[in-house]
Amino acid sequence: MPLVNEKDLLLPALEEGRAVGAFNANNMEMVQAFIWAAEEVSKELGEPVDLIIQVSPGAAKYAGWSMAAGMVKIAASETDIRVALNLDHATEIDQVKKALEAGFTAVLFDGSSLPFEENIRLTRQVVEMCHSRGVPVEAELGKIPRIEDYFSQSEIAYLRSLPAAEAVRIIRERAGKSVEELMAKPEDVEYFVKKTGCDFLAAAFGSIHGIWDDIWPIRLDRLIAIQERMRIPLVSHGSSGILMTPKDAERKGIKLLKGEGTLLDAIKTGGVTKVNVATALSIAFIDGFIEAWRANPSEKDFRKFGSAARDRVKEKVKEYMRLFAGKVE
Ligand SMILES: [Zn+2]
Repeated sequence: MPLVNEKDLLLPALEEGRAVGAFNANNMEMVQAFIWAAEEVSKELGEPVDLIIQVSPGAAKYAGWSMAAGMVKIAASETDIRVALNLDHATEIDQVKKALEAGFTAVLFDGSSLPFEENIRLTRQVVEMCHSRGVPVEAELGKIPRIEDYFSQSEIAYLRSLPAAEAVRIIRERAGKSVEELMAKPEDVEYFVKKTGCDFLAAAFGSIHGIWDDIWPIRLDRLIAIQERMRIPLVSHGSSGILMTPKDAERKGIKLLKGEGTLLDAIKTGGVTKVNVATALSIAFIDGFIEAWRANPSEKDFRKFGSAARDRVKEKVKEYMRLFAGKVE
């Protein structure tokens, strides 16, 4: 079917206490993996699973705006899955214009690195542009940092080699206080949403972009405080690195501190209805490709490796989709 409006996916999800996965695509194999995963999980659960495919300005630069949007539109037209196409992390008005011209059905304008009032002013401008075409806007409040803001590449490689609980201890020690200070303040949320007119909010609640594995707890108490002030679909960023479930935390030996929670908690009680995943899928693609090549280094047909990579991404996406539907303990 044609692309759908992201509002039609997220408003019902908010009512039903589930989330829709928003997965970043950089090439054809990723787009196919997401749609096939949604088709298979829909069958498995006996209920339709919706899908948001995201293209970042970086991905649009890599593939070209019309190629990136075109692939998603064609893939959507060939399935019964409801697919919305979102521009991920736009920081310039010009990127929003290009996305609207290319037929995107949602936009994230990320003014979080700007001063508060400047973020409001530019987001408001984006909302006016997008709403006149019926396209909803996600805005960002507070700052969701990147792991590279706190650790060098070699330190990250070292952290990746450690047991999860030890890595979390070190990240808490160096980044914990700063991540907390960057979180969205509940008292700002209502003012920001009213002033900008945004439809969805990426409010920083303690996650960090780019953590390599699902080990990091988020601040459920902050999500709940935001929800108490305003009922609006909230968006989780840096989701690749967030602990998936309380059971998961137990298995990895990670003790949740007071006010902390997992991704499942954020969806069930924190109002998170859109969950962005990029890093974990990029890693799955690389792992799948390299493993297939190692198993057969003399193979000259790179499609063999491409399909192994695609399968690996599809399986990872299916895990997320079951979790977002609330079908995992
Ligand atoms: Zn993000």
